[in-house]
Amino acid sequence: MIARLGQLCGPANVLTGAEAERYGRDWRGQYPSSPLAVVRPGSTGEVSDILRLASQWQIPVIPQGGNSGLVGGTKADGGLIVSLERMNRIRAIDASGRTAAVDAGVIVEHLNTRLAELELRFPLAFGAQGSAMIGGVLSTNAGGANVLAHGMTRALCLGLEVVMPDGRVLDDMVALRKNNTGYDLKQLFIGAEGTLGIITGAVLTLTDLPAGRATALLAVNGFDEGLAVLNRLRRVAGNAIEAFEVMPARYLAQLRRSSAPVVPPFASDPALAILVELASSAPDDCAPRADGGVPLVNCLTDVLGDCIEDGLIGDALVAQTEGQRAGFWRLREIAPELTIGLTPVVAADVSVPLDRIGDFAEALDTALGEADADAPHWTVGHLGDGNLHVVVCPADKSPAHLGRIRAVIDDVTMRHAGSFSAEHGIGLQKLASMSRHKDPLALELMRRIKDALDPLGIMNPGKVVPL
Ligand SMILES: Cc1cc2nc3c(=O)[nH]c(=O)nc-3n(C[C@H](O)[C@H](O)[C@H](O)COP(=O)(O)OP(=O)(O)OC[C@H]3O[C@@H](n4cnc5c(N)ncnc54)[C@H](O)[C@@H]3O)c2cc1C
Repeated sequence: MIARLGQLCGPANVLTGAEAERYGRDWRGQYPSSPLAVVRPGSTGEVSDILRLASQWQIPVIPQGGNSGLVGGTKADGGLIVSLERMNRIRAIDASGRTAAVDAGVIVEHLNTRLAELELRFPLAFGAQGSAMIGGVLSTNAGGANVLAHGMTRALCLGLEVVMPDGRVLDDMVALRKNNTGYDLKQLFIGAEGTLGIITGAVLTLTDLPAGRATALLAVNGFDEGLAVLNRLRRVAGNAIEAFEVMPARYLAQLRRSSAPVVPPFASDPALAILVELASSAPDDCAPRADGGVPLVNCLTDVLGDCIEDGLIGDALVAQTEGQRAGFWRLREIAPELTIGLTPVVAADVSVPLDRIGDFAEALDTALGEADADAPHWTVGHLGDGNLHVVVCPADKSPAHLGRIRAVIDDVTMRHAGSFSAEHGIGLQKLASMSRHKDPLALELMRRIKDALDPLGIMNPGKVVPL
């Protein structure tokens, strides 16, 4: 097989042994694996040949992008990793139509560097954007900090090119915003975590690069107050609110305990710190007026001033420089790094309706205290989307105890009409949650879709849909 793959893609692009090792290491080190081999195709045609071969030989195939996924989606023991890293071509940019056609191996940040030259951007913003690839963010339907204004990756994709498990190529690379022609098949592959085929190309929607931003860090007494601030801002700033991120006191305390080179800028930490950011692409909103004031910044400070007067906010720091803004973001973006060295941890990624998030946070605190009083735990997340990342670090690292804690988090989430998987996907991590909480009919339909599209079951087997 190795020789045959070498003929297809060139021997230098088929890696085994020590050369393949790094592809078997996930970011958190929680799902190490030993792939049979790694193959690095350079074109859609090569991906097609690889899948034809894998079908013939019935070899498990695990697609891989930047390998920044957090749920074990690329674990590949004994399987063939197909790394998209060489397929990194920006095929075309239509600046007036605000679309880009790209290979699946283009790194999100690289795309944005190129787009910035045209004063455009692909508005997906998250901590791993320097390594995550377009195929990966589509396959996980990644979220991040700007979902409030731009939606998840699913909302940013117009067309897709997918190689099916039998090697045939589904060419749906359309750049149309309106296209009602039967079932929207691309949506099946978005969020499928590589279980239905390999995404090789995509047409993405773009937005204008912001002409300016207004960013502030708020000290707030609780979730209800935080949401009241968000709603007041919505009334005056609408879609200009790009981020509304939350860092509760337990998270700030963990940050202070850690060796992270970031310190919360509060004399005494509030119940919640909220990072809010407005952005506008209209130059008029962002240019200083005769009195030196910038309309976008004034819009933010006016609302914050009213909120302080009304007791919704204790304190507000408005970034005066790009450096201060970066410092505020660092406080939030360092969150995944706080778990390094503590693994295995229970890292959950849940969402609940906004009007229940305060009750949820309280109930979760109580339930986790009862489940393991000594285990440090904290939450941090995208408050505007009702999405909290929950981390619990118990001393007892046995799979049974970790599983019990995850079940506690899931149960509290489901009691509050939430989702046990908001944005990171299922992978291997949440298979038990799928079995426990997903509607049995939904699971049956997923299994039938999987059987129909991948009858031999070679695509990323054992992930997403429990058997
Ligand atoms: C520091 C940090 C911060 C993060 N922040 C966020 C966040 O805010 N929001 C968020 O949603 N996620 C976040 N993540 C998770 C992760 O970055 C995302 O899941 C990302 O979308 C994964 O992209 P990737 O290219 O690294 O995919 P990989 O990790 O390589 O793969 C992820 C899954 O997609 C499949 N896959 C990859 N490429 C393809 C393809 N071309 N065709 C078919 N299947 C494919 C894989 O088999 C796997 O199941 C974060 C991760 C880190 C490390």
